[in-house]
Amino acid sequence: MDKIVALCKRRGLIFASSEIYGGLGSTYDYGHYGVLLKQNVKNEWWRAMLSERDDVVALDSAILQHPRTWEASGHLAGFTDPLADCRTCGQRFRADHLPELQCPRKPSKPPGDGPECDLTEARDFNLMFETTMGPVKDAGATVYLRPETAQGIFVNFKNVLQFSRKKPPFGIAQVGKSFRNEITPGNFVFRTREFEQMEMEFFVPPAAASEWYELWKQARHDWYTELGIRADHLRLREHDAGELSHYSSATADIEYLFPIGWSELEGIANRGDFDLTQHAEYSGEKLEYFDPQSKQRYVPHVIEPAAGADRATLAFLVDAYDEEDVGGEQRTVLKLHPRLAPVKVAVLPLVRKDGQPELSREIVSALRGRMQTEYDEGGTIGKRYRRQDEIGTPFCVTVDHQTLEDRTVTVRERDSLAQQRVAIDALAGVLAARLAEPWQSPKLAK
Ligand code: ATP
Repeated sequence: MDKIVALCKRRGLIFASSEIYGGLGSTYDYGHYGVLLKQNVKNEWWRAMLSERDDVVALDSAILQHPRTWEASGHLAGFTDPLADCRTCGQRFRADHLPELQCPRKPSKPPGDGPECDLTEARDFNLMFETTMGPVKDAGATVYLRPETAQGIFVNFKNVLQFSRKKPPFGIAQVGKSFRNEITPGNFVFRTREFEQMEMEFFVPPAAASEWYELWKQARHDWYTELGIRADHLRLREHDAGELSHYSSATADIEYLFPIGWSELEGIANRGDFDLTQHAEYSGEKLEYFDPQSKQRYVPHVIEPAAGADRATLAFLVDAYDEEDVGGEQRTVLKLHPRLAPVKVAVLPLVRKDGQPELSREIVSALRGRMQTEYDEGGTIGKRYRRQDEIGTPFCVTVDHQTLEDRTVTVRERDSLAQQRVAIDALAGVLAARLAEPWQSPKLAK
C-alpha cells in the first residue's frame, strides 16, 4: 500500500487534502490523472447500468435531504458504531475493532492492553455529519450530509415511476458523494469520511427477488473481472445470519484481496420492502406499484448493489501496480485496463528538433477528441516511457527521423513493450481498434 500511496502522490493522482495546512484527517484530493482514472471507473459503472441495459434509469438527488428521511431509514437511531475512549491518550477507537487496532503508546498491543491504557465503556456514536440549514441554529434547522446515496433513490421512487414509464423489474442508479464520520478511517482512500458511492436500487415483484439477487451478484462480480481485476483476487462472500441487517434476507460482499487483506469492495443486498414501506409510513405517500395486467397493487422488493468509486479505484490501482526489470533497469508500471487508463496515448518526439515536435503536435491534434492524448517532449525517450508506464498509458507513439521521410510512427505497447510501425493516416483507427480489444491482466500469467 505504501508504494501505491507514494506513486499516487508522486504523479499527482491522489494526495492529502489541505496539505498546506498540514492535511485534514483522512480526506484526499484527486489530481489530473486521478480525476481521469476515477471518472473512467464511474463511466464504466454508468455504461454497465445504462448503456448496456434498458431497465435502469439515472438519478442525481441532493446531498441534503429532509431530516425525516433519516428517521424513516433508521440512520438517525441506528447508524452508529460502538466507540471507546482512552482516558490516558485521549484517542477514540471502534470498540468492535479493538483486536485489529494499535495502541498509540504501545503499537505492539491493541488499545486497552497496554499497561497505561484506560478505556471507557463502549457507547454508540452516530456516523452522520450534522449541519444547520438557514441562518438560525435551532433544533428544527438540523440537516445531515447523506451517509449513502440510496435514500435519495427511495424517496424519489414515485417521481421516477411516473416520469420513466418503467415498471418492475427496473432500477434507479445514482453516483455521488456520501459522508460518514468514521471513527477509524484509514488505509488511504479505502475508508475516508467523504467518498463517492455508485448505488443502484432494483425494484422487483416480491416473488422475483431471490432470482434478481443472484443475477446482480454475478453481474457485479463480472464487472470487476471484465475490467481486468484478477479473478483470484476477487471473491463473493455471503453474509451469515448474524451479520444480516434485520430487514435483509440475504447480503453478499464482493471482496478484493487488498494489501490489508480481503476487504469489502461492494455490497449486494436483498432489502425486501423495508425502505419503501418505511418512507411510505413516515411521509404518508403510497410507495407502491399497481400492475394493470394482474390488477394487483404491491410494494416492490429491492435488490441493491452498492459500490464505492474511491474504493474501486484503489482496487484497480492495487491490481494494476507492477514493478519489472527491463534491460537491467527497474520500471514501475500500472497495468490498467486500457478503458480505465487515465491517458490512452502519449505522443513523443524522439528529439526536440528537425520538425519532430511540429509533426508530433499535428498527430496530437488528430487524436485529441477521439481519445485522451498527451504530448511530452521533456527528457530522454526512456524517461518519458517510464513516466507514461507509471500512469498506465497503454500506448506511446514515437516520432523519429523516419517519420519525416515516410510518415510512419512507432507504437510502443505498455504491457508487452512490443513496437510496431504504423502509418500516421492509419494511427487513430489502429489505436481505437486496439483500445476496444478484450484485455486481461498480464499479471495473471506471473
Ligand atoms: P464498511 O463495512 O467497509 O464500513 P459498509 O458495509 O458500511 O462498508 P455500505 O454501506 O454497504 O458499506 O456502502 C457501500 C460501499 O460504499 C462500500 O462497499 C464501499 O465501497 C463504499 N464505502 C462505504 N464507506 C466508505 C468509506 N468510509 N470510505 C470509502 N468508501 C466507503
